[in-house]
Amino acid sequence: MIKFMSIASGSSGNCYYLSNGNQALLIDAGIPLRSISKALKDQLLSVEGHVMGVLVTHDHADHIRTVGSLGDKLNLPVFATEKVLNGIDCSRYVDSLPMASRRMIVPEQTFALAGFDITPFPIPHDATENVGYHITAPSFSFTLCTDVGHITDTISHYASKAEYLVIEANYDCEMLLSGPYPPFLKERVSGPLGHLSNQETGDFLARIFRPEMKHVWLCHLSKDNNHPELCWKSIEYRLFNEGIRVGKDLDLTVLKRSSPSELYTLSGD
Ligand SMILES: [Zn+2]
Ligand SMILES: [Zn+2]
Repeated sequence: MIKFMSIASGSSGNCYYLSNGNQALLIDAGIPLRSISKALKDQLLSVEGHVMGVLVTHDHADHIRTVGSLGDKLNLPVFATEKVLNGIDCSRYVDSLPMASRRMIVPEQTFALAGFDITPFPIPHDATENVGYHITAPSFSFTLCTDVGHITDTISHYASKAEYLVIEANYDCEMLLSGPYPPFLKERVSGPLGHLSNQETGDFLARIFRPEMKHVWLCHLSKDNNHPELCWKSIEYRLFNEGIRVGKDLDLTVLKRSSPSELYTLSGD
């Protein structure tokens, strides 16, 4: 039985959990280990003996803050590209990652972990390097793309193959424009190596939707430049205009920034 939970999602810290029922993996670890352990414990799960490794998207602090301790204290393998591993070494936010915990991955080369086949793929963003993950098991496909500067053909390819999709909807264009960020930061966020707006994500979903797509989770919402209801409504309305009915054709959920989602059962008996 495949299960998914968002433990935290946003610029204060990201962590996602995916399990095949027996074994599990984490995607990113940007929140304290005790918060990860508590979220799992609340579902009668534990990190030790259950989580087989951590997949890292990129080396911004909100995605890697705890990977050093997961490697060091729990001996968990940490999967990242060579550039991101170097970025983790240079980051002042992370405890050093033991050599024995490093697993180097290469974009578009599939590997196996926790009963899943996992394909990392490149995503443009202003980190050392950034990857999304396309994760499959028999009769199951899942894609996670976060911190997306702009949509590429590669992202479209992997997102459109997913029955279950986690994708960023970081900011509302008007809220960003009239919001508190200084001009350079507004340009960074909305630039081609920054983040996706609700509008961009809505357009993208309207373009790639197929009937096989079952559930889309909107992740990495900005605290200052977005609002969960505005985000959900603008994307639901964009899909409605395309003839796609949220609740009937697919489920659409905004992930909370600092509290865990429910533990979703995605497939299996
Ligand atoms: Zn981030
Ligand atoms: Zn980032």
